[in-house]
Amino acid sequence: MPTLSTRIQGLTEGGDDGWGLFLKARQMVAAGIPVMELTIGEHDVRTDPAILDEMHRAARSGHTGYAAVPGTRALREAVAARLSAGSGLDYTPDNVLITPGGQAALFAAHNAACDPGDVALLIDPYYATYPGTIRGAGAVPRPVQARPEDGFQPRAADLRAASDGARSLLINSPNNPTGAVYTEATLQGIAAVAREADLWVISDEVYDSQVWSGQHRPFAALPDMFARTLTVGSLSKSHAMTGSRLGWIAGPEAAIADLVNLATHTTYGVPGFIQDAGLFALQQGAQVERAVAAPFLRRRAMVLERLAGQQVLRAIPPEGAMYVMLDVRATGMSGEAFGEALLAEEHVAVMPGESFGQAAAGHIRVALTLPDEVFATALDRLFAFAARHAGAQALS
Ligand code: PMP
Repeated sequence: MPTLSTRIQGLTEGGDDGWGLFLKARQMVAAGIPVMELTIGEHDVRTDPAILDEMHRAARSGHTGYAAVPGTRALREAVAARLSAGSGLDYTPDNVLITPGGQAALFAAHNAACDPGDVALLIDPYYATYPGTIRGAGAVPRPVQARPEDGFQPRAADLRAASDGARSLLINSPNNPTGAVYTEATLQGIAAVAREADLWVISDEVYDSQVWSGQHRPFAALPDMFARTLTVGSLSKSHAMTGSRLGWIAGPEAAIADLVNLATHTTYGVPGFIQDAGLFALQQGAQVERAVAAPFLRRRAMVLERLAGQQVLRAIPPEGAMYVMLDVRATGMSGEAFGEALLAEEHVAVMPGESFGQAAAGHIRVALTLPDEVFATALDRLFAFAARHAGAQALS
């Protein structure tokens, strides 16, 4: 076999990019071992049957050929309307490219912002695919650590210090994995650095429908930021449509025109019947999005209640998204060691904080994604495990 490109071989720098424990849990499940999976960000409910009915209707009525590469006019209009309502800006369909999920949007956005070898900033802890996505686009990821003591809000001074030679900055609020929703001060700080260093800001807002406290502020709505912001969105989280692969990039018209050109030469668009289903989903309004998000708020409360009754595990209450980050350092274990032992001893799978960079070492990320009763049992096991190991640590 001829040698593969350095770019593809170096995508995850030879590691598993943080998915090791998740894959191990999946192997146990395949081998018939029941594992309570609190790993990936996927709802315990499936896509609403009414959305699937529309998908079926659209496919049967013939929307199975090549669809318009930028997205159907109607879906781009609906996404533009959602973006306008959330931001107060005036989006038109020409500001929107429909993509196969937020993931493809992140890849395309970095292709648009960065030339090969350019530095792309990202904030650590980060969603596990970010560095590989940046490398896939030929750019060089440069993580900037946000600190647990700041509630994982990035500091402008740290961003500024890292901005030399950078072309882009990837931000994510509400944040996966930390649950942080960026404050006005944080956003203003990011905007100042973007202005000073002339950066593209790639703002991943796929969790914008899951905000538990504070308020989601679309980054593009900050003063002067629209012209340098590429906003990434998706129906995966807001409508439990992870498998439909439907997302978007929104930004200045000229950038979107070039991104449409890139789509022509990469994805060639998104299936028309999926887009019609997405349009139908958006037409159901914000109430449906609130209903999809509601279980995560409930389970967040279940975790916070448990935390209040013990001394071992700590957390910054998540302000958004479908996860809780727990600080496990009082057990004397790393996030990885805790996750491995929890899986082996209790058959509960979580993501080690180390999967998300350096800043979340000594933490685990718990996805709020099992039905309430099962989730309660998983928490019983998790907290008992932590208490047991903290006790052992105190004795040793
Ligand atoms: N961004 C973040 C922060 C995510 O957590 C995810 C999925 N877990 C994505 C983007 C990608 O989502 P999708 O491609 O399903 O839209």
